[in-house]
Amino acid sequence: MLKLWREKERYRGKIEDCLTAIITTRGCSWRKCYMCGYWSESRDLGEDALKEQMDRIFEKLGDARILKIFTSGSFLDEKEISAELRTHFLDRCREAGIKKLIIESRPEFIESERLGDFRGFELEVGIGLETANDFIRENCINKGFSFSDFVRAAEVLKRRGFRVKCYLLLKPPFLSEREAIEDLIESAGKVRRYADVISLNLMNIQKGTIVEKLWDRGLYRPPWLWSALLVLKNISGETICDPVAGGKIRGPHNCGKCDREIVSAIRLFSLTQDKSLLEIDCECKKVWLEALKLEDYSRVPLFR
Ligand code: SF4
Ligand SMILES: [Zn+2]
Repeated sequence: MLKLWREKERYRGKIEDCLTAIITTRGCSWRKCYMCGYWSESRDLGEDALKEQMDRIFEKLGDARILKIFTSGSFLDEKEISAELRTHFLDRCREAGIKKLIIESRPEFIESERLGDFRGFELEVGIGLETANDFIRENCINKGFSFSDFVRAAEVLKRRGFRVKCYLLLKPPFLSEREAIEDLIESAGKVRRYADVISLNLMNIQKGTIVEKLWDRGLYRPPWLWSALLVLKNISGETICDPVAGGKIRGPHNCGKCDREIVSAIRLFSLTQDKSLLEIDCECKKVWLEALKLEDYSRVPLFR
């Protein structure tokens, strides 16, 4: 029901303890993105159970004063978390001396009046834009909002003095590896003026999704870790990446020999922003370079 773990987070250039909580809510109101299986974890447990989950977070806070709270949907969607519960949660955060709060929301729920309660916190809101290209977002992801919706939401946050985290996705289905890399680098350039931090999401195959169906039929491969390194080297400004399922067949992967080293390097880079960590080599880089050339023509993955 409630998932909790400790991790490190960058805070004003320093590395600090952070508690991450995923609470079970009725889930995302959209539920139509081709790669998303979060709906399978959502349950409508009612207001009391939700409040209980929130209260348990504070029992486990320890020394952490940075809190990430995710819902597998949108924290600001009042169908998921009512205004009353939001107020209760923020009161508890104030009592506990939380200094930074990180939440996620689709742009349609980011409205100035819902943000008033967050006054006094350093708030960072993650928005899953995935790409700055409206055609790709609509046809390859089915995200259901436009780049201009993202810009509006980002401006609302900025006017309140809050931080914007923009999630970009490598690689949406139906794109070749090379097209996905290009789209990501281009998107990062376009969102940089609105986003304080870019979070690079590397596709992993979630159960019960359209992307899983494509993958099952050999029509999709998650991105190579080489592509992730290339993208990270070419994005300027604060950029983070957590390669979920990195090195696994359902996640971003290379040959199996170099995956672990690259995943660790990406995680460390996310904390330190030191690009020299991304200089790694392995023989399978040649295969990846072939994939970049050939998959533009084959339109299906040629290498596992
Ligand atoms: S908006 Fe987010 S949570 Fe909702 S379906 Fe899309 S990826 Fe999943
Ligand atoms: Zn390798």
